[in-house]
Amino acid sequence: AELYGIPNWSSGYFRVSDKGKVEVTPAPGLSATLHDIIDELVERGESMPMILRFPQVISARVKQLNEAFRTAIREYEYEGSYQGVFPIKVNQRRMVVETIAEAGYVYAHGLEAGSKAELALCLAQNMNPEALLCCNGFKDDGFIKLALWGRSLGKNVVITLEKFSELDRVLRISRELGIKPALGARFKLHARGSGQWEESGGDQAKFGLNASELLQVVERLKQEDMLDSLVMLHTHIGSQITDIRRIKVAVREATQVYSDIVDEGVKLKYLNVGGGLGVDYDGSKTTFYASMNYTLQEYASDIVYTVQEVCKSNQVASPVIVSESGRALTAHHAVLIMPVIDVTGPTRGSQIVPEPSEDQHQIVKDLEEILAGINARNYREMYNDAVGDKETLHNLFDLGYLTLRDRARGEALFNAILKKLAKLVQDLPYVPDELEDLPKTLADKYICNFSLFQSLPDNWAIQALFPITPISRLNERPTRQATLVDITCDSDGKIEKFIDLRDVKATLPLHEVSGDTYYLGIFLMGAYQDVLGSAHNLFGKVNEAHLTVRPGGKHTIDLFVRGQKARRIIESMGYEEAMLRESIRVQAERARAVGELTDADITELEEDYDEELLGYTYLEYEE
Ligand code: PLP
Repeated sequence: AELYGIPNWSSGYFRVSDKGKVEVTPAPGLSATLHDIIDELVERGESMPMILRFPQVISARVKQLNEAFRTAIREYEYEGSYQGVFPIKVNQRRMVVETIAEAGYVYAHGLEAGSKAELALCLAQNMNPEALLCCNGFKDDGFIKLALWGRSLGKNVVITLEKFSELDRVLRISRELGIKPALGARFKLHARGSGQWEESGGDQAKFGLNASELLQVVERLKQEDMLDSLVMLHTHIGSQITDIRRIKVAVREATQVYSDIVDEGVKLKYLNVGGGLGVDYDGSKTTFYASMNYTLQEYASDIVYTVQEVCKSNQVASPVIVSESGRALTAHHAVLIMPVIDVTGPTRGSQIVPEPSEDQHQIVKDLEEILAGINARNYREMYNDAVGDKETLHNLFDLGYLTLRDRARGEALFNAILKKLAKLVQDLPYVPDELEDLPKTLADKYICNFSLFQSLPDNWAIQALFPITPISRLNERPTRQATLVDITCDSDGKIEKFIDLRDVKATLPLHEVSGDTYYLGIFLMGAYQDVLGSAHNLFGKVNEAHLTVRPGGKHTIDLFVRGQKARRIIESMGYEEAMLRESIRVQAERARAVGELTDADITELEEDYDEELLGYTYLEYEE
């Protein structure tokens, strides 16, 4: 458990049992073993990979966020209140949105939509009438109409103006429909975030009004005698803010703007500080991009304190503080479980070194000498020589000076050198700098039945890090160092960076795979990954189990959602199922005509084809 840092990043939602198995712990006194859940699902005949979702974890996060603000509000005797909204773009899954709406009902926790489709989805949710439904993003007439209709349905819909020209559009449509809008204005803060989404804030940000545009909005509304429609000031300096100081600076600036707008005679009610509340993916509690140097309580306390201080000194009434936290509410609830289906690597198994040819090339002889002579004293020098020789070997082959037989022998000798080296360095307390790439070179490749592009797109696109651990055998010392590869035919489909408290690790310690299926869990993947994933190689959405953890270490499977069938994903590319079948039939007829297939063959072929069309897109082995 220590090795994988589970207590550091799990926020208490995962732990390791005495038997070395990972348990999910959505609340004190409630726990279930991931391996038991998987065994049950496999027994039922369900296929891997699979996402396990725990709605109780989402509910716990909603409660924790709201209670953190309530604690801060009590502590500082803040006169306003807090009302969060969940930006559904972070995860629009039905279970996620409905769980948040339900757990958030008592807190009047609302939703945020960034497109027409998202708004259509949000409008159908059962929400506390006080809860906000914020409409962000660029808008056309249809979007605005839907938002205004939402108000007449009794929902607290606020249309955020992302740019000045949206105001005229809103005013015109509101006149046409005879529905008065509630408006927010997104302000481009000068303050910037920290971490990977720094560009979301600052003067160059894509969204928002600058100071003069904001004042023009106020003027325009004054002219229309609609100043009371402007109820919210909205800001957002980026997701995953790693440094709490950036948040404080941004909130201070936002509250100054809020105060000045109130001074202009606008009765603003809500100050929206946007998203950005981080998730500590590596557990290091630092400003590293996969971490954050503050707790949830510090986040809430610092925001409440800063808003209070600025409002007091400006003698402005305390607003309802709104945050649009998405990542922090949803990341923890989902775990991707994938089986290791094979292991390869330069130091594995017995290396068969082809016999030397009679006129063996000198470069191959050099590698033979290195293999014979490498020892604890000279391994640095010898390793560097071997790397150089291997490069020369390939150059010579390319130029036609080396036979395939010599190349094969040279490569096998090189691997044998690596294997010997791995033994020599395994007892060293550290790997010397000049051998920096050595762990990666020596590492095994654990081939996992999943697609990085479908299940973990941020790891590929922006090098986001997620904690990965075996889900059992954690009381056993791992003896291998590995990188992970997926089953797509894309060489980018690999994971070669792993969390670490001090740095990023090039390899993950794993156990030798034997008899039983070895499962790895990818944790904290419930924010953004589910919805950004793409069907590279036509690997589709994965199977999902929704689970409730019950007292006494038990669990129930509330719902099993099958992943996409091959047919669906093929159809999403514009093909029709009937067309595919027809083409197979015509080809089979032709093959029969020339005696290649019998009637029985055709029946069997068509059955096999059908089975794959209706089947899961991932590899299916008997577990
Ligand atoms: N609000 C807005 C306007 C956003 O653009 C985003 C995402 O970047 C969020 C909220 C959600 O942020 P987070 O997931 O960091 O809470």
